Amino acid sequence: MDVTPSSGPSISVVLLYHRIGLPRLTSRVAGQYVAPALFRSQLVSLSADGWQGVSLQQAAFEADHDRKRFALTFDDAYCSVYEHAYPALAGSGLTATIYVVADQIGGCNQWDYGAGDRRESLMTAGQIREMAEHGFEIGSHTRSHPHLTRLDDEQLRQELIGSKQRLEDLLGREITSLAYPYGNHDQRVISAARSAGYTNAVTTVLGTAQPTVGGPFEIPRINVRWSAVGPLLKRKIARAVQAGKQLPC
Ligand SMILES: [Zn+2]
Repeated sequence: MDVTPSSGPSISVVLLYHRIGLPRLTSRVAGQYVAPALFRSQLVSLSADGWQGVSLQQAAFEADHDRKRFALTFDDAYCSVYEHAYPALAGSGLTATIYVVADQIGGCNQWDYGAGDRRESLMTAGQIREMAEHGFEIGSHTRSHPHLTRLDDEQLRQELIGSKQRLEDLLGREITSLAYPYGNHDQRVISAARSAGYTNAVTTVLGTAQPTVGGPFEIPRINVRWSAVGPLLKRKIARAVQAGKQLPC
């Protein structure tokens, strides 16, 4: 399916990544690994097809009717993103939004590791600060990566406000973006996120980013998995475009 129209309405998509590294078949979430060479080839392939890398804010909230645009997001803030994706992005003049689990800075993927997954290191405070200083947006992925809809109101508040404050203390700047762990959210969670001071949140629902028909707290994304070599990534983007058209306005 052709997803590269030369004219017509703009397309903006938000790509979701987790771990950058060779797929680990012993992992419970093996599909979350995207090999460094594949990641670099995806950037080249998107650029060759006329896609422009932009920030999450631009992709989701700023209309540009002449361009196909993509924003990059990384959930969980793995060290492997700092080691492999960060240099590749910096070399291409691109940035991304990194969603940090605030109680696990310099720690590990406790939420998956505790459930039997491989242990994977998460970025240190210094690494997060360095990326922020180089134009990367840092967002919250809550304090401990829970299913937010299962929490009571006070726990929910703690996860949303506590993580925001911790990251703001670390970086000295306002944190406005949120990623729901597991994409798990409902209207109560959205309302709590708004009350906590966030201005936008990303989901794991497949679709295009703009116009944000679900509103600023339900920005769809495209989950990029280990198998997403060029044609498959394009096919997934095409599916997102199709899904975007089916969403009610
Ligand atoms: Zn996560």
